[in-house]
Amino acid sequence: MPLYQNQNLIIYNSLSKKKEVFTPIEEGFVGMYVCGPTVYSNVHLGNVRTFMSFDMIYRYLRHLEYKVRYVRNITDAGHLENDADEGEDRIAKKARLEKIEPMEVVQRYTLDFHEILNNFNNLPPSIEPTATGHIVEQIEVIKKILAEGYAYEVDGSVYFDVLKYNEKHHYGILSGRVIEDAIHNTRTLDGQSDKKNPQDFALWKKAEPVHIMRWPSPWSIGFPGWHLECSTMSTKYLGEQFDIHGGGMDLKFPHHECEIAQSVASNGVSPVNYWMHANMLTLNGMKMAKSTGNNILPAEIYEGTTNKLSKAFAPPVVRFFMLQAHYRSILDFSSEAIEAAEKGYNKLMEALKTVESLETSSTSSFDVKAWQQKCYDAMNDDFNTPILIAQLFEGVKQINLIRDKNTSITKDDLYLLKETIHTFTFDVLGLKNTDNQKGSDKLDGVVEMLIAMRNEARDNKDWMQSDKIRDELLALGIQLKDSTEGTSYIVKN
Ligand code: AMP
Ligand code: ZN
Repeated sequence: MPLYQNQNLIIYNSLSKKKEVFTPIEEGFVGMYVCGPTVYSNVHLGNVRTFMSFDMIYRYLRHLEYKVRYVRNITDAGHLENDADEGEDRIAKKARLEKIEPMEVVQRYTLDFHEILNNFNNLPPSIEPTATGHIVEQIEVIKKILAEGYAYEVDGSVYFDVLKYNEKHHYGILSGRVIEDAIHNTRTLDGQSDKKNPQDFALWKKAEPVHIMRWPSPWSIGFPGWHLECSTMSTKYLGEQFDIHGGGMDLKFPHHECEIAQSVASNGVSPVNYWMHANMLTLNGMKMAKSTGNNILPAEIYEGTTNKLSKAFAPPVVRFFMLQAHYRSILDFSSEAIEAAEKGYNKLMEALKTVESLETSSTSSFDVKAWQQKCYDAMNDDFNTPILIAQLFEGVKQINLIRDKNTSITKDDLYLLKETIHTFTFDVLGLKNTDNQKGSDKLDGVVEMLIAMRNEARDNKDWMQSDKIRDELLALGIQLKDSTEGTSYIVKN
């Protein structure tokens, strides 16, 4: 029986603004779409928090033995400077400023994005589609919306008719914005725009002559509106209706609101059953953002090159810091907070080592099964990682009590304790042990091979060769230790 049948997962749905029991459309399968980055600059730590939140969600769904198709796009066209429909394309602007091809910008920052996410031990999505790779499909969606009467064309551009849509449907259903208030509060269009109403948004924009990223369409040579790619690619890979759609809180409006409108207009059904929004990472109490400069780049943290921190912190410590907060809470990054997180992280890693060498007895004075369920209960309650971490520390407390012989545990219970704390720490939270390079099968194998080569050199009295092996390993942070039992090694941080 798959694990999800024994666990009652509850998810906070931003659409209903309530916690709801999670029931996927097709039993055993989950379709999840998360808005990916616009690849025109390096990802900052705030972006990392959002992607890490959804990585943790993905990991837990997989742990529950759902078969998850996780789609996360790359926005490589169509996202204009001011998030609305005016201004330059962000990628084209960067390309112009740096005098390089737009696709060079895209390649550079997509690679950066992958590398950073990998450093934080995020799993890759199942499909990572790009906007530029789906221009044809986006044009097809526009045709459908036009045919349904929810869009209009003006001089080569196509706009979504929000007022028309709102006559039958509810524009504002996700964000809670009231369209009538918006109309009342907006000044009339200044004639610069060819939209009927300021609330309308672009599905297709005719390209100005300076615009370098453009494609032919029935309406003009142009480019798709930013919101359209997500509706198009989520429908293509997950269907007209799918289970989970995620993104940062700041995407709720207009991006996700527009996604709903586009899908309802083209397919006649609301696309997503559970909308999930991750909250912001702040620095000095203000949202971390690329545009304001109030941000930290991940590499500055683990290379220790920011004067905002006293020293470097390893990626798993940063991950632990992030997961100590619930994904729907605002989290403020500070030197003190990350230092405190490092202490907690080290304590947990220490206990994971201790648990390997505990002695067992005939009775247990700790109900391991009940504790394990509390770990699940925490995650089942809308992925409550701070509560899970508190439970893991309950496990740490018990491990230390057993080590100090202040309490006892049976062999079977110890196995369950070890298994549970390992699974939640490494598989579900996605933490890594920073000095766990030692003990990894591959490294063990390679170092054992080099130790054998060094022994051979020593047997042949080839001291130059044996010293070379020792010194070069040391330069890589691997120290050999000779003793009467043979040679072992440690990895220095
Ligand atoms: P962007 O590349 O700007 O489209 O952002 C990529 C993702 O990062 C989106 O889901 C944003 O909501 C999210 N994001 C942006 N700033 C922050 C922040 N300060 N904290 C958490 N998530 C953020
Ligand atoms: Zn999106």
